[in-house]
Amino acid sequence: MSTKGVFRVKCPSCGDNFDADFWTVVRGDSDADLKDLIISGEFDLLGCPRCSTVFSHEEPFLYLDPRYELLVFVMPENYRPEKEKWLAKMRADYEALDPASFGGRLAGLEPAYFFGVGELSPLLSRDRDMEEESEVLACLAGESNFKTAKIKAGEARLRDLPFCLPYSGPAPVKGGALSAVKKLLAVNDALPRLKNLLKELEVLAAEEIPFVK
Ligand SMILES: [Zn+2]
Repeated sequence: MSTKGVFRVKCPSCGDNFDADFWTVVRGDSDADLKDLIISGEFDLLGCPRCSTVFSHEEPFLYLDPRYELLVFVMPENYRPEKEKWLAKMRADYEALDPASFGGRLAGLEPAYFFGVGELSPLLSRDRDMEEESEVLACLAGESNFKTAKIKAGEARLRDLPFCLPYSGPAPVKGGALSAVKKLLAVNDALPRLKNLLKELEVLAAEEIPFVK
């Protein structure tokens, strides 16, 4: 579950001070609506209860989505002038996190540190494109009786790949994956990340695929 905190803010228009709710932890894996707000740029918008002015106000929050290997400390953009100080604080906060928190799902996640929700939104927006393409791919693979394996999310972002790998045979290794990818590209050549996957598979020296989960 995502969690909230209350902070006192000042309206830039009328100067009124009021208490506002802020998300302190956003779970991208369970709160699709919050994820959409981040992508659309509405996440940090507040409305003044006195004069109705809408303005943006950022407070620090943690964005977590273990499915896609995301653990992001998001500081307000206006903290950037003191970047080193805040980076040190965020790293200390990360060290202090109980590995058992969030159901033990932090294990193995490499934290990222951003300044401004504006740094997170393009990443999530691109992820959404990748997810959509991966869903189409998984459907196509199923229709052709191929299995799918998960691709490590960080590797998928780095190499611009889908989040899943179709393959034939008992295990996701180079040979079975290559034949499945080639057959699926013959059925649908409109999946750019599937083409990238073909290139990545073709240059592998061994049967083992290092970017598969
Ligand atoms: Zn106001």
